[in-house]
Amino acid sequence: MSQFKEVKIPDGDLITYCDGALVIGDHPVIGVLRGDGIGLDITPVMRKVVDAAVTRAFGGARAIAWCPLYAGLEGLQHYGSEFPDETVEAIRLLRIAIKGPFTTPIGEETHVCLHCAHQQYHAGGCDKCGKDDGVTARFRSINVRFRQHLDLFACVRPIMYFEGVPAPNKYADKVDFMIFRENTEDVYAGHDFERGSEVALAIIELIKAKTGRQIRLDSGIGVKPISEFGTKRLVRKALDWAVAQKLPSVTLVHKGNIMKFTEGSFAKWGYELAKEEFGDITVTEKELWDDLGGKMPAGKILMKDRIADSIFQQIQTRPDEYSVLALPNLNGDYMSDAAIALVGGLGLGPGANMSDEVALFEATHGTAPKYTGLDKVNPGSIILSAVMMLNHMGWNAAADLILKGIRQAIKDARVTYDLARLMEREGRKDVKELSCSGFGDAIIERM
Ligand code: NAD
Repeated sequence: MSQFKEVKIPDGDLITYCDGALVIGDHPVIGVLRGDGIGLDITPVMRKVVDAAVTRAFGGARAIAWCPLYAGLEGLQHYGSEFPDETVEAIRLLRIAIKGPFTTPIGEETHVCLHCAHQQYHAGGCDKCGKDDGVTARFRSINVRFRQHLDLFACVRPIMYFEGVPAPNKYADKVDFMIFRENTEDVYAGHDFERGSEVALAIIELIKAKTGRQIRLDSGIGVKPISEFGTKRLVRKALDWAVAQKLPSVTLVHKGNIMKFTEGSFAKWGYELAKEEFGDITVTEKELWDDLGGKMPAGKILMKDRIADSIFQQIQTRPDEYSVLALPNLNGDYMSDAAIALVGGLGLGPGANMSDEVALFEATHGTAPKYTGLDKVNPGSIILSAVMMLNHMGWNAAADLILKGIRQAIKDARVTYDLARLMEREGRKDVKELSCSGFGDAIIERM
């Protein structure tokens, strides 16, 4: 692949996209981005666990050809840029990649060190860790730029419980759902205007002129677009997942009782899409009760909708009634964090950002710089993201083996420090604290 300067595509099958589906050979080339900070620790463990599961599941007939790609600190080292164009192009070509966390500058300082996330007002050596090859001018979030450049419109988060993890919710063991959060519209579209700004005042004036309603002149103004196109492609993804994984329902979450033409339309368009493209395999709740006497036909998917505030109650009181949730951006943001808390999912919550043709799987926690290189942290988030990736590829047998290994390791209380501490606090006496790589090995032993 001579089009790349630093990326070396290994021998293997390039994934293609044909008639709305990925075509995946037995030796697919998959991108891997180590990430900054503890990416150094967790990413190699993930690779080892995935390779072991794939070998065990398919007896050597299948294997992943990993293709290292560079961003963050590694981007700086290879290209002099934390967000190299070549990396974006390589992900586009490979269609599936998995990544560790990346440093994001958050303060006002002009420079950030990609080794330790320290922020300062000058280039050169880092005032904190002393290294002189990681300090760069502040930049916009690498994660956000991947989403925007690759139009990864669905943020996908599985929420599941692992026996043995101390969880605050009484019904945590019944939690098992997949969240599809829209990634490009709603508040994420970023149409937010400062009080007194030209645009804010013009919008206030326009609304007054067209509707007669007066907004206070000292208001900041946010515009929240939710489109039919954006909604339908998200709900299609959620339904595709429900079909592929044989799940019983898809729930559209919205605040349509208050915002009829954004949130309410999200639900309306979601139902329309289900009828138009999945009509033969979906049933609405209304049809279930009006036409089918409340008896769900085997193999069909129930389409429901819930008001956002009520779903926050329902995932706590009746979590087993939900399997796939589709939400606009802001509701999805709240829901993802609330749901992971239900299951005590510290360090374990995986995620992915997807378009139709490209999927980027990721650890959802940050770079935890103080633990970098100590082989200490929990690799669960990136390993579970790899489970999602294997499911996405249709390699469910390998995904199931990893899940089995993780479940058993946690059940046996063979875990990293974070879970060990929580379990001991709950009074367990048989906890054995493992290193990051030790936890990976414990998973492999239990597949
Ligand atoms: P963080 O998630 O890196 O760390 C917060 C704390 O959580 C850590 O001190 C550690 O105690 C714990 N922790 C995190 N991951 C863990 C793991 N795998 N196992 C065990 N414990 C874990 O959040 P932060 O300190 O706010 O952010 C550090 C850097 O990471 C910042 O630059 C931030 O912008 C970035 N960040 C990146 C992502 C991402 O790339 N997805 C997400 C969040 C934060």
